[in-house]
Amino acid sequence: MDNVTVIDHPLVQHKLALMRQKDTSTKGFRQLMREIATLLCYEVTRDLSLDPVQIETPLATMEARMLSGKKLVFAPVWRAGMGLLEGMLDLIPSARVAHIGLYRDPETLVAVEYYFKAPSDLVDRLVIAIDPMLATGNTAIAAIDRLKEHGARDLRFVGLLASPAGLENFSARHPDVRVWVASVDPTLNDHGYILPGLGDAGDRLYGTK
Ligand code: URA
Repeated sequence: MDNVTVIDHPLVQHKLALMRQKDTSTKGFRQLMREIATLLCYEVTRDLSLDPVQIETPLATMEARMLSGKKLVFAPVWRAGMGLLEGMLDLIPSARVAHIGLYRDPETLVAVEYYFKAPSDLVDRLVIAIDPMLATGNTAIAAIDRLKEHGARDLRFVGLLASPAGLENFSARHPDVRVWVASVDPTLNDHGYILPGLGDAGDRLYGTK
């Protein structure tokens, strides 16, 4: 798929392997999620545009380059997206944050919204939606639907794992939104979980299983 980038950097793959292991502790899983988020953030922002700026080093004046345009917006999907948010903010601390509360109905696997709060000027900003697991794609689609309803036009999606069916579903609905993930796993189980996957990302982050 043209609009999907799989981040196969060795550090990403190593950390992902640790996260997948069932014996990784809640503390370890959360720490790894934060670390891997910085690497995903690095990749998803690789092509941001830069402006020339005149600066002074202790020795000379020079033309350096700094990010142009308005600050980014990170849009984590609760709960599991919050696990990636911290690492992304470590790298870009001045980013704005749009919070999206969605849960998957366990029977229908349809995304149900319970919270939405975003900066008012989404139309002028690059918005990066964040959710570790793009399984059926329904939650990611609903998140992007809501961000577009609130004016976002320039959108990206970043996650850890996706399924081929979820990516197809997502890209059919939002062909304009590029996706970055660390792996595309082969399939889903009957409950809509990614296989082999890493289990329930929210439960593993917050120790709620
Ligand atoms: N959400 C998760 O946390 N894990 C999956 O495998 C699918 C959706």
